[in-house]
Amino acid sequence: MAKVAFIGLGNMGGPMADNLVKAGHQVTGFDLVPASCEAAKAAGVTIAPSAAVAIKGASVVITMLPAGKHVVSVWGEVVPAAAPGTLMIDCSTVDVDSARQAHGLARAAGLKSVDAPVSGGVGGAKAATLTFMAGGEADAFAGAKSVLEAMGKKIVHCGAAGAGQAAKICNNMILGISMIGVCEAFALAEKLGLSHQALFDVAATSSGQCWSLTSYCPVPGPVPASPANNDYKPGFAAALMLKDLRLAQAAATTTGAATPLGAHAEQIYAAFDGAGNGGVDFSGIIRHLRDLAAPDRRT
Ligand code: NAD
Repeated sequence: MAKVAFIGLGNMGGPMADNLVKAGHQVTGFDLVPASCEAAKAAGVTIAPSAAVAIKGASVVITMLPAGKHVVSVWGEVVPAAAPGTLMIDCSTVDVDSARQAHGLARAAGLKSVDAPVSGGVGGAKAATLTFMAGGEADAFAGAKSVLEAMGKKIVHCGAAGAGQAAKICNNMILGISMIGVCEAFALAEKLGLSHQALFDVAATSSGQCWSLTSYCPVPGPVPASPANNDYKPGFAAALMLKDLRLAQAAATTTGAATPLGAHAEQIYAAFDGAGNGGVDFSGIIRHLRDLAAPDRRT
């Protein structure tokens, strides 16, 4: 079992650190928010007064932070203080450039590093069923895999430094676009007098089938566990979807990739977020589409 330092004990990091403790790892953590530290402490995480203190004696350092600037800043603080041989793992969702910058800090200090963003949300973090998509050298990935297994059920090595973040933003661009597509289909069905259940029963076994429909259905009824049945409480907040779509657009701009639907999805989520819905589940975008609807033109 490893001595793990865990920096960032929020909605995702808190339960992930808990699962490391449950798997028998010795975990020392730090977060800027005292309440998050208290919750982690109750789950068996030793709390340190700073990130630099948390990593003392650790063989693995994991960060789970809001954005790229936080990761580069925390890695800039802890990498120089880390012992030789420490493995650095960032599980946050950040832009590919920041991920590569963080890898660069580790490389300059002679440390191995992996970017390993996750899919699966808070539910997956609690149940230890996250999917990790990892970027980094093969030997760094091999070292990370044994630790990540305590927090997830699928761990994929996507390629070199930054490849995990690249996979994450490509996947979430598909998700943002497909959710809007499914919501548009339900909004049109409503106008046509077709029941939600009828559209679901057909599309779930036809060529329109996708995760946004069959696992996360944006209307109440067909998939009882989806946030639509719980007044669109997240789940996966629209503000986080917007963040990921913005990361995808930044990467598309940098690389010259053409992603017109990704760009439009970003605009649609930006309007939803701008109207005060950032904390609403991202499948609540169906409400926004209904609001955009014109009066029925058939009369
Ligand atoms: P969160 O805001 O709940 O947690 C982030 C934590 O980092 C906070 O507790 C904050 O206090 C802490 N923090 C910030 N700067 C710090 C610093 N300098 N030192 C120590 N702690 C610091 O966010 P979250 O929902 O846990 O998400 C974390 C990351 O995971 C994000 O990059 C997010 O995009 C990604 N993610 C989230 C979900 C989800 O469903 N919530 C799903 C997949 C990926």
